[in-house]
Amino acid sequence: ATPTALMVGTGRSAKMGILIKNGEVLEAVNEIKTVVLDKTGTVTVGKPEVTDIVGNEKAVLSVASGLEQSSEHPLASAILTDAKEKEIVTPKVADFKAIEGKGVSAQVNGKQAFVGNDKLLADVKISDAMKQQVTKLQKEAKTVVFVGLNDKVIGLIAIQDAPKATSKEAIAALKARGLKTVMLTGDNQLVAEAIAKQVGIDEVVADVLPSEKADHVKAIQQDGKVAFVGDGINDAPALTVADVGIAMGSGTDIAIESGGIVLVKNDLRDVDKALALSKKTFNRIK
Ligand code: ADP
Ligand code: MG
Repeated sequence: ATPTALMVGTGRSAKMGILIKNGEVLEAVNEIKTVVLDKTGTVTVGKPEVTDIVGNEKAVLSVASGLEQSSEHPLASAILTDAKEKEIVTPKVADFKAIEGKGVSAQVNGKQAFVGNDKLLADVKISDAMKQQVTKLQKEAKTVVFVGLNDKVIGLIAIQDAPKATSKEAIAALKARGLKTVMLTGDNQLVAEAIAKQVGIDEVVADVLPSEKADHVKAIQQDGKVAFVGDGINDAPALTVADVGIAMGSGTDIAIESGGIVLVKNDLRDVDKALALSKKTFNRIK
């Protein structure tokens, strides 16, 4: 390999906002079969907004905002923003707990309160009418969280995080290159499928716990080399395990550190550009 070609190639890509950190990445690029993408903040904008509330709006938002004020999850900021806009009084809570991949819980006015997905509902019954509402909202690509007090669900909050304007084009470019695309997310299957359909992603792996993301990448590597694109703290292990880890520049520090390639402009279309540039550079130094 001639270091000069490597320098030239990566120097040119750096000007385009594509940082290639090492030569190993260049070697793997020619053999990539699948591009795996995180959903929130990678395929979607990552700024979720509340769209629907089922139940008594004031009561539901009050409990939910009480709990979410201690959470750093993007869904929490969506709920807090909505509660603020609606001038909801946020109660004090005690004994706050974040439950990985599921939601949050705490004591509110002497009651055990929770906000999160159906994995939190083991001992809680919900009506068939409510189940139908949940399915309808999820098919509209909305993430639904249940708000509960003790053993009752008092309402639902539907939250939407739209795909980035460029995601569809970005996915089409990867598919034109003959690559398979897979979305990996902790969100619900129906929501994930709805988003995937909107942007043209081939396959979905949903309901994945943060700690499981890297294992799913390993499983997909059985079919050939994998590029993983992500931005979150919980994407770091998957970025490391992948043959090519691609981090969004807007991502958390740990994601950026874990990526072999960093997309400074946060444009998902740069995944394709990065692959094209790496190939060119690699073929030149071979
Ligand atoms: P991802 O970022 O890939 O969507 P997460 O593991 O962060 O996955 O979250 C998975 C799911 O867990 C969310 O879609 C939501 O249902 C639930 N959840 C996690 N944190 C919270 C929270 N603070 N409030 C409500 N629900 C939450
Ligand atoms: Mg993310």
